[in-house]
Amino acid sequence: MSLGFRNLRRRAILLAAMAGPALGETPVRVRLYDYAGVPPRILDQAQAYASTLFSEAGIAMEWARCSPGESGVPGDAACRPPFDPLNLEIRILSREMAKRAHTTEHALGYALLAPGFHHVAAVFYHRALELEKACLAGRSDILGAVLAHEIGHLLLAQPHHPPTGIMCARWGDEVLKLIQKGRLRFTAGEARAMARMLSQGNRARSQRAVAALLPPH
Ligand SMILES: [Zn+2]
Repeated sequence: MSLGFRNLRRRAILLAAMAGPALGETPVRVRLYDYAGVPPRILDQAQAYASTLFSEAGIAMEWARCSPGESGVPGDAACRPPFDPLNLEIRILSREMAKRAHTTEHALGYALLAPGFHHVAAVFYHRALELEKACLAGRSDILGAVLAHEIGHLLLAQPHHPPTGIMCARWGDEVLKLIQKGRLRFTAGEARAMARMLSQGNRARSQRAVAALLPPH
């Protein structure tokens, strides 16, 4: 059992004991496209770690593996549009693909943010491996935290980086130690802002569904 998995179990037990915020009724669905060849066990743990971070913020996540060759592709409904704030597309990119994104060498990933379009983001697996070299946190936990950071940008619909916490820009030793201890999390303000964005997305979706049901006239 890896350090990361033990850490995750410890957090799950702690979570069960805590009276945390109620999970939103509609889960955020994440289509995961892995182009970096992340080992399945690492991906499972990273996904679980990210889910725990969002669960602590009161947000339920539902994941679909949509990489070429996985059962989700092609034809699986979970891997098809719609794309909206409740249906995200997250790509895990290789170093070569990350280079083509023209981000800085310190970037952990990126989120595409434009008015009415904030449901696609990417994370860089090689950056998780580089951060692991500090021997302060394992690659699966780091990857999970990076996934949560980029998804956080999408759910907050803004590129802002506060000085500390999961949404900070520079991940040095302090952030890695928090990851290892299971203490890196969204702030209460970030959790409220994400819940607000999601309820707006939910309302817009309900209105679209009602409009689609109305007979033409
Ligand atoms: Zn960021």
